Amino acid sequence: MSEISTSPITIEQVRADFPILSREVNGRSLVYFDNAATSQKPRYVLNAIEDYYKKINANVHRGVHHLSQRATDEYEEAREAVKRFINAKSIKEINFTKGTTESINLVAHSFGRKFIGKGDEIIISTLEHHSNIVPWQILCEEVGATLKIIPVNEKGEIDIDAYENLLSEKTKLVSIVYISNSLGTINPVNAIIEKAHEVGAKVLLDGAQAIPHQAVNVQALDCDFLAFSSHKMCGPTGMGILYGKENILEEMLPYQAGGEMIKEVTFEKTTYNALPFKFEAGTPNIAGGIALMAAIEYLEKVGWEFIENQEQMLLDYATQQLSNIEGLRIVGTAENKASVVSFLLGDHHPYDVGVILDQLGIAVRTGHHCCQPLMKRLGIEGTCRASFTFYNTKEEIDALVKGVERANRMLS
Ligand code: PLP
Repeated sequence: MSEISTSPITIEQVRADFPILSREVNGRSLVYFDNAATSQKPRYVLNAIEDYYKKINANVHRGVHHLSQRATDEYEEAREAVKRFINAKSIKEINFTKGTTESINLVAHSFGRKFIGKGDEIIISTLEHHSNIVPWQILCEEVGATLKIIPVNEKGEIDIDAYENLLSEKTKLVSIVYISNSLGTINPVNAIIEKAHEVGAKVLLDGAQAIPHQAVNVQALDCDFLAFSSHKMCGPTGMGILYGKENILEEMLPYQAGGEMIKEVTFEKTTYNALPFKFEAGTPNIAGGIALMAAIEYLEKVGWEFIENQEQMLLDYATQQLSNIEGLRIVGTAENKASVVSFLLGDHHPYDVGVILDQLGIAVRTGHHCCQPLMKRLGIEGTCRASFTFYNTKEEIDALVKGVERANRMLS
């Protein structure tokens, strides 16, 4: 495990923890601004993966031998770490999945098919990622429910009055993104949850972009479900989390069937395992869980104060500097915004801008960011998106600004 310094952390120390940040791309120092797609991994996390395979590798929950017990202990410790990280009441509320997408699909399958029926309504917003749209469309088609959409204004903020008007006793679930991946809008989730509960609806928060940037406390929020991905919070890919309130999870149908999720199997009748194993069929992503725990420990040591200050500084600086570029328009100007800047440069195609930036070693995302309905609402096909995190620097933003100016000259 790489050492993480405990007292005042500097940006230089943080950057030194991420081996990839010192590499070059196209002969230039890498500037990685695609953090909303996936974050980079600190050495501490990389070492956790290597250590697991070198020293522990065994299957979990079923062996009496030393390695299996070690693997089980560490994997279950990871569940404890997630519980602590989001302040859940019990480890029974922490279900491991392979990512936000699977977590949302699990709720659509196991909650939706039991508790949502003909004539019922599900509310989502225009800001959603495809993974928080399509599972509900499929469910609605199957059970005869209706999907209602909260509109957004030009700034990319949801219309809270329209939301209240959509709510009724027919609403069974509100599934909403906490922070928009494409525009950075931070949704007023406290109010959204409170209003939904007033009509008896449950709330799923898509926390994919919120979890890496701020403390999320599920008990304080009182959300019924929270979905997020390890790979966006310095952990490995293929690992995700579904938090659910215990009493709701208890009532839900199993998701996938097989080993681990059963208590007893006979050809006549099978009984299911207790939470959280009820939703975890088959051999899990053991290394993924252990490395996720390392990612949590790493983020906890860096601390929210450092993370939030650094990201706010980057957002303010980037917004100001990019706005000075002739012909550049920032898309998504919500009052309450996370460290994402989506922009358009004159009439130039975002892809062309992205390719020029890539030649300069600068990684941004271009396109619809898995939010096609939102792009349609905004009357555009896509944007260039620079998404910052706590290991990015002002100097990197200067490089981006120079790169965008260069793209402007080359494409004009
Ligand atoms: N929701 C949001 C807001 C996202 O940004 C993403 C990924 O970009 C997802 C859901 C899907 O996450 P994953 O691909 O890790 O399942």
